[in-house]
Amino acid sequence: MTTPRNNLLTSIVEEAKTCRHELHQNPATSFEEFYASDLIARKLTEWGIEFERGWAETGIVATIHGQNTSSKKAIGFRGDIDALNIVEESGQEWASKISGKMHACGHDGHTSILLGTAKYLSETKNFNGTVHLFFQPAEEGGGGAYRMIEEGLFDKYPVDSVYAIHNWPYAPRGMVYIKSGPIMASSDEIEIHITGKGGHAAMPNECIDPVVIASEIVLALQTIVGRTINPADSAVISITNFNAGTGANNIIPSSVKMHGTVRSFDNKVRDIAEKRIREIVEGISHAHGAKGTLNYQRNYEPTINDKIQSILCADVAKSLFGGDVVLTEFPPSMGAEDFGAMLQAKPGCYAIFGQGEPQDPDSPHNFGLHHPKYDFNDEIIADVIEYFSGITQRVLPL
Ligand SMILES: [Zn+2]
Ligand SMILES: [Zn+2]
Repeated sequence: MTTPRNNLLTSIVEEAKTCRHELHQNPATSFEEFYASDLIARKLTEWGIEFERGWAETGIVATIHGQNTSSKKAIGFRGDIDALNIVEESGQEWASKISGKMHACGHDGHTSILLGTAKYLSETKNFNGTVHLFFQPAEEGGGGAYRMIEEGLFDKYPVDSVYAIHNWPYAPRGMVYIKSGPIMASSDEIEIHITGKGGHAAMPNECIDPVVIASEIVLALQTIVGRTINPADSAVISITNFNAGTGANNIIPSSVKMHGTVRSFDNKVRDIAEKRIREIVEGISHAHGAKGTLNYQRNYEPTINDKIQSILCADVAKSLFGGDVVLTEFPPSMGAEDFGAMLQAKPGCYAIFGQGEPQDPDSPHNFGLHHPKYDFNDEIIADVIEYFSGITQRVLPL
């Protein structure tokens, strides 16, 4: 269901759409979202909503008090505001004006939804307690959520629970996905160095060939998921860069450098993956007389929904949109999301809203996230504002 249910929501959705298109034309990446930050501040000022700038450089926290605050409760909604380094090919009239930058993950939409929610809640005030809106920079790899938490977000703005959504072009508009437990994966970076002994390619007996050793390591790493990790758990280990040699065909290089990513839903699985990768890199290198080192960098935590909160959110969505379009059993995504950091600090729920238009195969809303032809679907703005407002009324009833 996507029809706005009252005149106030209809006019707010129109304003949010205008903001979305302006944000889309002016994208910026991690911690440089000055345009978005200025636009958010301008709108909040215009609507008389209190806010504080300067969180993680460009982040903003807006605060709305209900018509009663005697419950002493507070909740938080988070929207990410950053874009990506992609050359846009959407062909939309609001396409990016900044060369090489693009809102290809729909965070322009998430920002506009949060703005619309701010206005809707400040006009209705139909709750008992306080709502904080976290406009967060640098979701795409910069860890803006971690930075805001480190800067004391939850000390200054204590909340009982936190909520966020992501648009999903892989599912049709109208479908909502809310499950308890893991919904997005952790994302870790690995960097492997193999140091052997270079020399003439025709005299390998005089060398310790790191290319052969690294190749053996790449294959052996694939046995971790298949043979070491419990088949009931999920993990991905991918080597994505393999760098060696100078381009000459008659030189065995002295070293190889590889990069990759590790994804899982459970910190215990991460521990096993890190331990086994290190053993394989060091052990295989040692067996061949080379030196292998691993730098394992833990980035985003898995995004894990609280059981009680996810039941509550699914309930709110079902009452708004109908039970048949709200799914609570589905496989989690191996993608990563820094909202996982907020969910490690506070109970809450991350929901997924379908935005695809399968009846229109040429629709830009069907292109995958991070695709140069992707565009956020404005038709889901009303639904998400209603969903956030529904959660507010359910958690902070008058
Ligand atoms: Zn993204
Ligand atoms: Zn995203």
